[in-house]
Amino acid sequence: MAKRLEGKTVVITGASSGIGKSTAMEFARTSPKSLKLILTARRLDTLKEVAQQINKDVGDGVKVLPVKLDVSKPSEVKGFVESLPAEFREIDVLVNNAGLVKGTAKAPDILEEDIDTMISTNVTGLINMTQAIMPIFKKREDGGRGDIINIGSIAGREGYPGGSIYCATKAAVRTFTDALRRELIATRIRVMEVDPGQVETEFSVVRFYGDKAKADAVYAGCEPLTPDDIAEVIVFNAGRRENVVIADTLIFPNHQA
Ligand code: NDP
Repeated sequence: MAKRLEGKTVVITGASSGIGKSTAMEFARTSPKSLKLILTARRLDTLKEVAQQINKDVGDGVKVLPVKLDVSKPSEVKGFVESLPAEFREIDVLVNNAGLVKGTAKAPDILEEDIDTMISTNVTGLINMTQAIMPIFKKREDGGRGDIINIGSIAGREGYPGGSIYCATKAAVRTFTDALRRELIATRIRVMEVDPGQVETEFSVVRFYGDKAKADAVYAGCEPLTPDDIAEVIVFNAGRRENVVIADTLIFPNHQA
């Protein structure tokens, strides 16, 4: 698998924490000699720490570029590719991971601001990134090639009380991903989705507006997945030979089954 990822340029959104950060580390570990990683999120300082940690762990064979990017801002996404140094522009893999949930209110009471944040990040942000990167895949001289791996959720397959908008955004990710994959059938552009169940990350802290005690209570008495569990699957899927499309992966902890 490492051979197939050699020399690739990978963009990960939401790489400052959780699944995105672990995915960056896992790509680097799998292909430590020639990989180029573009790590994006809103917190640039945190991205720089991730970049340092990667080079400390696997050496400087992996070139890491931290880029401040808010996927919910179309103007930032539009200028993203042009802003990259030339050696990072030949992107091979896009991991659309940035996403969040805000609040636990029932549908009639959800704050307008939270609705906007979830839709503009989880749905519009993912679509914007896809549209920004797709021309790079399509213009390749060998007829077009590249991988898009979208991070959905088990919440895109079934609703839960207090999660209506988040679930709706992840259902949108799911159908967008499926339609895009079908549009690109018989090309060498692969479209895949990975849907995690419960994973312990900053996700719950964000859901409870930064209240760590409430976030920790979510995981009491159960054993959530770790972000590494998801990262391993993302990198495995990206490392399959070109004719293999692992279109749809659902991963959850045993207690959630
Ligand atoms: P984290 O909160 O740890 O990571 C979310 C990442 O998204 C952060 O790096 C954050 O960085 C980034 N992000 C948030 N908003 C934006 C934005 N507008 N622009 C760019 N980056 C943004 O949570 P997870 O790692 O758990 O979440 C990753 C993905 O996994 C999400 O799509 C989530 O919906 C999904 N998921 C998570 C589950 C879980 O139980 N944890 C279960 C199922 C799916 P920054 O704040 O620096 O911008």
